[in-house]
Order: sequence, then C-alpha cells, then structure tokens
Amino acid sequence: MTQAPLDALIDALPAGSVLTDPDTVAGYRHDWARQPDAGTPLAVVRAGSSDDVQAVMRWADAHHVPVVPRGAGTGLSGGASAVDGALVLSLEKMREITVDPTTRTAVVQPGLLNAEVKAAAAEHGLWYPPDPSSYEICSIGGNIATNAGGLCCVKYGVTTDYVLGLDVVLADGTLVRLGGPRLKDVAGLSLTKLFVGSEGTLGIVTGITVRLLPAQPPRTTMVATFADLGAAADAVVAITRQIQPAMLEFMDKVSIAAVDDYTRMGLDREAEAMLIAQSDAPGAHCAAELALMVAACEENGATEVFATDDAEEGEAFTVARRIAFQAVGELGELLFEDVGVPMTRLPDLVTGIAEISAARGVTIAVVAHAGDGNTHPLIVTDPHDPEIDRNAQLAFGEVMELAIALGGTITGEHGVGRMKKDWLPDYLGPEVLELNRKIKRALDPKDLLNPGAMF
Ligand SMILES: Cc1cc2nc3c(=O)[nH]c(=O)nc-3n(C[C@H](O)[C@H](O)[C@H](O)COP(=O)(O)OP(=O)(O)OC[C@H]3O[C@@H](n4cnc5c(N)ncnc54)[C@H](O)[C@@H]3O)c2cc1C
Repeated sequence: MTQAPLDALIDALPAGSVLTDPDTVAGYRHDWARQPDAGTPLAVVRAGSSDDVQAVMRWADAHHVPVVPRGAGTGLSGGASAVDGALVLSLEKMREITVDPTTRTAVVQPGLLNAEVKAAAAEHGLWYPPDPSSYEICSIGGNIATNAGGLCCVKYGVTTDYVLGLDVVLADGTLVRLGGPRLKDVAGLSLTKLFVGSEGTLGIVTGITVRLLPAQPPRTTMVATFADLGAAADAVVAITRQIQPAMLEFMDKVSIAAVDDYTRMGLDREAEAMLIAQSDAPGAHCAAELALMVAACEENGATEVFATDDAEEGEAFTVARRIAFQAVGELGELLFEDVGVPMTRLPDLVTGIAEISAARGVTIAVVAHAGDGNTHPLIVTDPHDPEIDRNAQLAFGEVMELAIALGGTITGEHGVGRMKKDWLPDYLGPEVLELNRKIKRALDPKDLLNPGAMF
C-alpha cells in the first residue's frame, strides 16, 4: 500500500476523519475477544455520515483495500478484529435518533449505544426491548450486525424482531434503503433481514428503523438455587414448557463464586447452579406465573427459592448475572462460547460442558440465557501456560462439537466472527455453506467487507 491513495481518502472526508497515529490505531485492533493474532490496520476512519461511509467504500473498492466495520468493539467473537493493511471503519460518531411515538418507531444511527436507544424511547413512554448484558457499552449498529440477543429476549425476541428498515452502504459504495417504518411489508425478498446478523460481511449499516413497544410492565423476580447442575436445567425446561417468562437466566457454581467475589453481594456459593427468572405478566397472571416457576424449581429439587416484587432487589440479581463476564474475567483470559441447543437438550449441554471441563482440567464458568437454550461457557485460559492454553483451546472446540451433536448451534447471539469460523462448515454442512458464500460473492465480489470474518 502506498501513501498516495490514503491521501485521496483523507481529501474525500471531513478533516480529522482518518486516524493514522499508531497508538490510536492500536486501540482499534481488538474487540472483547482479544484475538491474539488480530492485524494492524492501515488507518482508522471515524465516519460521521452515510456520505462518509460511501466515500470510504468507493475508495476501498477502487484501491482493493479491505474494510472492517466497527461499532463499540464489545463483540465476543473477533468479528471486529482488525486485518493487516485494512481500514477500520468506526461508526461510533454517528449517534442521532428520532423517535416517532405515533408509529412507535425510531430512526437511529448505528453508533448510538443500546442503552441510549432505550433511554430515548423511554422519554416517550416506549421501550426498545433487546437487552444484551452489554447494553450500556454496545452500539445499536453492532447489535444489528450480530443480531444481538439478551435477557428479556426469551419473551420479547431478539434484535431482528425489532428491525423494520436499514440503510446499508454496499461494497462498491452504493447506498440502499431497505424497508422503513411500516409494520408489514413483503415486497421483494427479505433483504432487510439478510443484513441483520451479517457481521459486517455484506454491507455497512448506516441507518436503522426500529419498532418500539409500550413500556414494560412491572416485573416480579424469582431466584432459585440447586445442588445439582442438571436439575437446574431440568427446572428451566419445566418452566419453558408451560409459560414464557420475561427472563430466565442461569449461573453455575464457578460464575456464582466469581460474581460474589466481584460484588460481595452474599450469593449462595455452595449452590451448583442458580436461576434468576422474572414475570411481567399483567395483574393476577403475574402471581400465577411466579407460582408456576417456584413449583417447577421445587419439583426439580431446588434447595432454596425466593421471590420478590421489589424492583431494586430484582435488579440486583439481574445485575449479578449481567456482570458475570467481567467477574469471571478476573480468573484469567477468557475464551467466549455462545452455544445453544433445543430446549430439551439444555440439561445434556450443561452436564456435558462440566465433563469437558473435568476431562481437560480447565475452568469453565457457565452463564446462560437459559430460557432460550443459549449458554455462554467461559473457558479460563492462561496464554503464558502452554499446557493450560492447549487444553483450553481444545475444550473450546469440544464445547461447539458437543452443541452440534445435541442438534444445537455454535453461536446463538455473539456471531461466528473469526474465533468460531473453523466450526461453521460442520454446523452448516456443505450446501448451506456454499449458499452463504454465493450470497457473499454476489454482494461483495472483491471480498472487501470484513474479510476473514464468518466465512
Ligand atoms: C460484558 C458483555 C456482555 C455481553 N452480553 C451480550 C448479550 O447478552 N447478548 C448478545 O447478543 N451479545 C452480548 N455481548 C456481545 C456484544 O456486546 C454484542 O455482540 C454487540 O451486539 C456488539 O456490538 P458492538 O457495537 O460492540 O459491535 P462490534 O464489537 O464493534 O462489532 C460486532 C460486529 O458487528 C460488525 N459491525 C459493527 N457495526 C456495524 C455496522 N454499523 N455495519 C455493519 N457491521 C457492523 C463488526 O464488523 C463486527 O463483525 C456482550 C459483550 C460483553 C462485553
């Protein structure tokens, strides 16, 4: 790469958009997965508008320079890891939002944080439900690109269920506007949904129209502890067979202890597993749902069950679950898994992961959006200890192979990125993998958009 083309890009963009200072650029090399062999980009561009993004892609297309789109860098699969010689295209400065309370929609730029979208909606008595645990630090654009899930998604659905329209800049710089503030629209192929979860490999999202709901009703919280891992998962299956709770989260012994060390909130460290569940059903239905969840836990051998309709107390347990990645991160470097299975196989998955942990002699903490069958085994490694690191890497693959064998998926919400792509062929099979690749080639024939991610 010569300097001349970069000068042309600098000239095409507002002053200060292109960053080349090595220390600044280094800050954009990794996402939360901290992929060890992330590349060193040529430069970082901080786009301020769709026009800027179009100028970047036209320049990249003309000069065959790869582009790695980036939101807030909280991804857990290396999807925003930099590539040698690429541009990192940061959307963090694009932060406008307009809420229309009449149609209950909002038009949002990609750099706004999920929590800021929620706050803007709340000003109108409305609610944007998808709530990844990272909601205070991740961008809505990143949420679209990964089709993020979260805690209330067990009842309210994931990101894609709220996306009505997208503005997308394609690999050659063309801007397309897909969908819009219409609740029903089946004209043409479902292209809007194609870009949701495409991990920056098909286009750059520069505008989003989301659907909003009326504010969430008050919630009642149940916390249950278990002396047996599989029994806790059995209780989850018993609950989801009968009702759709507003939240149904799981923590195992390792994550309970790590969170307790981190927060000092006095969690039951003797328990093998803990469930945190909520109901937001209206009126008497709430008490009925709660009674059903308590009964399901007791019938499956819970050692302790308690319920509260105190919002602050309920939120404290929700925070305990949300903070688990940071808390377990105190134990060492983490390999982040995101495997999911059909609900009936959840007990087999959690017990199978415990067996892998024992066989490999590595610590694996498991937290889960259990009501969705979506678990996050966090494998603790030490890159400076070759034996531990080798076993951790092997366990990383074995957990995904276990999920596939149970009819599950290698990722329920974090995306394939660069860390899980070696397992994608096994999960998809040759025909579906080739169909994915055909779509990628049709939209990005020069492989400029996030090369090395997903495929
Ligand atoms: C503590 C913690 C808890 C988490 N909990 C959850 C959870 O509960 N549920 C969940 O789903 N995830 C969770 N995550 C993962 C992460 O926050 C999500 O994947 C989130 O959607 C990433 O958003 P981001 O803005 O940080 O994106 P980045 O990390 O910056 O990027 C993620 C991917 O999206 C692409 N991308 C970003 N912006 C755009 C754009 N505008 N156009 C095209 N492509 C783009 C990138 O190239 C990359 O492939 C958690 C992460 C952390 C650190």
